[in-house]
Order: sequence, then C-alpha cells, then structure tokens
Amino acid sequence: KKATNQALVIFGASGDLTYRKLLPAVFDLFMNNLLPDGFAVLGISRSQYTDHAFREKMKKGIKEFSNFKNAESDKINNFLSKIFYLSIDTENGEEYVLVKEKLTELNRKFNLGCNYIFYLSTPPSLYASIPKFLYGQGLTFQQKGFRRIVFEKPFGHNLLSAKELNKLLLEFFEEDQIYRIDHYLGKETVQNLMVTRFANGIYEPLWNRNFVQHVEITAAENIGVEGRGEYYDHAGALRDMVQNHLLQMVSLVAMEPPIKITPQDIRYEKMKVFRALHPLSEYDLKNHVIRGQYTASTIRGKHYPAYREEPHVAKDSRTETYVAMKFFIDNWRWADVPFYIRTGKRLPTRVSEVVIHFKPSPLPLFRHEGSSDKLNNQLILRIHPDEGILLKTGMKVPGNDYLVKSVNMDFHYSELSNQYIPDPYERLLLDCMTGDNTLFMDGEAVEETWKFVQPILDYWENHPEAPLYGYPAGTWGPDVADRLIEGKNDTWRYPCKNLADDGM
Ligand code: NAP
Repeated sequence: KKATNQALVIFGASGDLTYRKLLPAVFDLFMNNLLPDGFAVLGISRSQYTDHAFREKMKKGIKEFSNFKNAESDKINNFLSKIFYLSIDTENGEEYVLVKEKLTELNRKFNLGCNYIFYLSTPPSLYASIPKFLYGQGLTFQQKGFRRIVFEKPFGHNLLSAKELNKLLLEFFEEDQIYRIDHYLGKETVQNLMVTRFANGIYEPLWNRNFVQHVEITAAENIGVEGRGEYYDHAGALRDMVQNHLLQMVSLVAMEPPIKITPQDIRYEKMKVFRALHPLSEYDLKNHVIRGQYTASTIRGKHYPAYREEPHVAKDSRTETYVAMKFFIDNWRWADVPFYIRTGKRLPTRVSEVVIHFKPSPLPLFRHEGSSDKLNNQLILRIHPDEGILLKTGMKVPGNDYLVKSVNMDFHYSELSNQYIPDPYERLLLDCMTGDNTLFMDGEAVEETWKFVQPILDYWENHPEAPLYGYPAGTWGPDVADRLIEGKNDTWRYPCKNLADDGM
C-alpha cells in the first residue's frame, strides 16, 4: 500500500521518541519506496532549531536507529530535504496560526492536497490542548484533504481521565480521525498471532476451554526506568504495560475469528473480549494481583540500584515495577480457563511471549523423563526476541523402554525471509498514512481496558497495607507470584533460567 500526498506534523519533535523511533521509521518507509511523491515532515516543539540544525539531528538518529543506517548520503539528503522545523510555545493557542501558515506554505511547495497527520509525541499533559488549538485554526476539518491525529501512550491516567479525554477529543475530531498508538500492535509477531490462529486449520479446534488448561502472557524487560523515572513513578507497571500492551495481546489470543480482516470486524471481536473480562472481586484483588518493586542487587560484580535509588523516583516510592495477575474471561470459549499475565522491569531478560498450555492426556501411560509424571504440551508464541513459534511435544526416547521426553518443534521467524523485521513504528505510521486504523485502539476499547484495571488502582490506593513485594534486580519478580498458578508443580515459564543471561 502506498500513501497519498501528505504532511506528517510531529509535536514534541525535539524529543527522544522522534529521534530514536519516528524519524528513523519514516526514513525506512522512504527507503522502501512507500512514501508518496508529495511528502513533508514538519517537526514542532519549543526548542529552537533551524531547519538545517533539525535535519542534522535527525540525520544522526537515522544513522543510529534506522534499518538503512548505511544508506548513501544522497538518499539521506534527499529525504532530509523534506523535513522542516517550527518552534512555537505549544501551550499558547495564539501561536498555532504559525502552524497553519507553515502548512499552507508546505502544501503549496509539495502539493500535499491539504492532507495532514498530527502526531502528538509530547507529554500527555498536552493531549487535550493541542487538538483544541488545531481546531481553533480550522486545522481539524476535513473539507479539503484528510486530517488525522495520533496519540502516544499513555492515553489517560485512569478510567475517568481516559473517558474525559475521549469526550473532549470528539469535540474537535471524529472518532475515525483519531489514532491511539499501542506500539505492541505494530509488532510483526503480534500480528502473527492472528495469522497463526486463523490461517491454520489445526490450532483453532484446540483453542478453547476443552483443550487449553491455561494461558500465560509475559512481557519482561531487563532494563530499569532508564532516565524516565519521573514518568514511570507516576505510572507504574499496571498503567505502563497491563492496561494497554498486555490486554491487547490477551484480546488477540482470546478473540473469535473476525468475519473479515477489516478494522471494524477486528475491533468488534477484540471489544467482545474486553467486555467479557471477568471483573475482579475483592478476593481477586487481594489474592490474584501481585505487585513488586525491584531492590538493589549485584550481578557479576556490577551493582544495580534499587528502583527507589533511580533518578527522579521518590525515595519512599510505592510504585510497582512488576505486576502478575490471574483472571478469567466470561465467554463460551474461555469460561474457567485461567489467564496469567506478568510484566516487570529489571527482570533477567527482555522477552515477550504467549504460552498456550494444553491439558495433558487423560491417563499417563508412559514414564516421563525427569521428575514430571505428565507431559505438558505448550505452544509458545515468541513476540520478542528471536520471534517465532515453538511447540513442546512428547517423543519416545530411543531404546527398549517407553520413556517420553519433551522435545521442541521450533520455528524462527527470521527463517521466513532475509528481510529485516520492520520496527512497529514503520508499520503503524504507514497504516496511519493510508488511513488503516486496524492496529490502533478505538476510544471504546481504551475505556473498557481501563474499566478492567481501575479496581486494582483503587484497591492499592485504598489499601496501602496491600503488599508491595521487593525482588532483587535481575530476578523473575517476587516468588509469591508462582503461587498464582493453579496446579501441582506448575509455574510460570522461565525463558531464561540463568540470572543475568541477557544484557545484565
Ligand atoms: P520527551 O523526550 O520528553 O519529548 C517530548 C517533547 O515534547 C520534548 O522534546 C518537548 O520539547 C516537547 N514539549 C512540547 N511542549 C511541552 C511542554 N509543555 N512540556 C514539556 N515538553 C513539551 O518524550 P518522548 O520520550 O519523546 O515521548 C513522547 C511521548 O511518547 C510521551 O507521551 C511518551 O509517554 C510517549 N512514549 C515514548 C516512548 C519512548 O520510547 N521515548 C515510548 C512510548 C511512548 P520542547 O521542550 O522543545 O518543547
């Protein structure tokens, strides 16, 4: 798909996301010949840059983060000639007339057809005012050309603020002009969840309560807060990861097949999952939601500070850097099947995966290698890293006995093609440019996911005595999280058993 002529207007252009992700992704689109002939980027923030200085900065970002970092200078310079910069006080509505003037100028120069995408890569405190100021200049109306607006996460701080923001935005934009980013949905392997399920005849018949014992979803990071302590200390793992990325993955794992692969049909099926999430009772809140915070540790002689020692984090912070929880989905497919999700910072490795644990065979006829008396068939969908699919299945150990061993049937995504796996932002930007909002969250779904997590936020606020377990940096979180998992000898999957195997 190729986009029509348009401008990408980035607010917060002097920031980290633009430098590391957005501009390198736009450059990748350029190198893949996916940008329209008439195209311009307008970067906007308060910092002072000339076009030249801004281009030089973006060039550095491209050379470090693009998939085409070794592109010829001519190519890079050609791309940079489409980039412009405007400095305004983003909090002052009167200055938005300058945005309008600049867009009029670029529109003439590049024949943009008055098609504009406004990308808000700013602190969320500006998510209400920038749309209002754009509206004030008539820049949100679509009589001539399209107007779309993209919001980075977090979208809302709780259910109430998400609802208020949704309501307010509808004063300035139509819902189908609003693109709420969840960059997890831009990951190839997250999209592959749907393809694996619905393009193969063999999985779907087993993908239900009759055959699945439980579902486990992990999004682990080995990094700490990396200079984003101020944001993170006000957010925490529940807001930062569970409300958005993890619940989005849950919806893709649990949804019914859509009638067609259209944004409406897919969103409709995902929404049905969110609406079926079993509300957490007081008992669940106390027993089925575990929160933790990393403490200091020393790994291979290197010291890792505690969360509370990180810059811009309160010394007595009770923000969770780890969450694990168990919940159910009340529908015919999943009734009584536990879903376990966990996420955390400073865990031993960076990994995102979905594990479908199948029920064992009704009778154990054979002896099993190791201490286990049964075989657990698991289908593991690795989202990151080493993207791929792994099926754990039992095989006879060669010899005179019926001894069963669990073996891996392992497919690595990298074997599919020798092309690089695109960064989520490349895919999501192109989708927005072509008007495909399938992989973006609609307002209703955002509210529904907030509705599910809000009782947890309320419970923690109203019960300061609710445990916040410490876990040493570089471990898999509090041990108590293992107790969530039902079943004798069942635990979370530990994709990297050895502490500090990966990057720590
Ligand atoms: P950042 O480095 O702090 O950049 C935000 C930019 O917004 C700043 O460069 C700032 O530039 C500009 N800005 C405009 N008006 C502002 C105001 N009134 N107060 C403060 N800054 C203002 O943040 P970022 O990391 O690029 O993140 C941007 C957005 O993306 C945030 O909402 C963040 O939550 C989200 N996000 C970021 C990442 C990431 O990896 N960085 C990942 C996921 C989501 P001036 O000072 O020049 O105006």
